[in-house]
Amino acid sequence: MKLLVVEDEALLRHHLSTRLGEQGHVVDAVPNAEEALYRAREYHHDLAVVDLGLPGMSGLDLIRQLRSQGCDFPILILTARGNWQDKVEGLAAGADDYVVKPFQFEELEARLNALLRRSAGFTQSTIEAGPLSLDLNRKQALMDGQPMALTAYEYRILEYLMRHQQQVVAKDRLMEQLYPDDGERDPNVIEVLVGRLRRKLEAASGFRPIDTVRGQGYLFTERCR
Ligand code: CA
Repeated sequence: MKLLVVEDEALLRHHLSTRLGEQGHVVDAVPNAEEALYRAREYHHDLAVVDLGLPGMSGLDLIRQLRSQGCDFPILILTARGNWQDKVEGLAAGADDYVVKPFQFEELEARLNALLRRSAGFTQSTIEAGPLSLDLNRKQALMDGQPMALTAYEYRILEYLMRHQQQVVAKDRLMEQLYPDDGERDPNVIEVLVGRLRRKLEAASGFRPIDTVRGQGYLFTERCR
């Protein structure tokens, strides 16, 4: 998933980028609200983590602006301990959940994953479609209950398409999931990865859930639950 992280403390920002990157996310980390607004206008994100205490425009104003611009991704706020007004105002401004600083990374990760699941309409930690199931916590695909040997990139593409089942997902969108840096993006790589993923799914169970929509992208056609 592609995450927008807005945190002015450089060390924490770096730590969040690294840890969330290790969990398989692509992280767009910025130090202030102004930069966050720019990124949100230019790129697609699946979730934002917003520190409320920012220099310049506050985290609260940032959330209000994001929502008034039509950004509907989940927002997780970071608040200072004991400041209950912050939480209430943050939620009222349009945030979905909060974590109190200082926090354990595991707590942040659990809340973030729960928000991502809910926003995709899934409440369990697995997504199932026909013989295929994804264990979202372990980042493992299973076919008829047997673990599949997918590379990290193949898994990410599969998870993204399943979370956006019945929607056409553009190649650009998939590229943003894999490569944070514009310069590394090559649409041919996505075609190769999707081709490999399809062959593995078909070889394992004759399952062909991914259609190509010409000139537009890919469509996961199976109903997921
Ligand atoms: Ca701060």
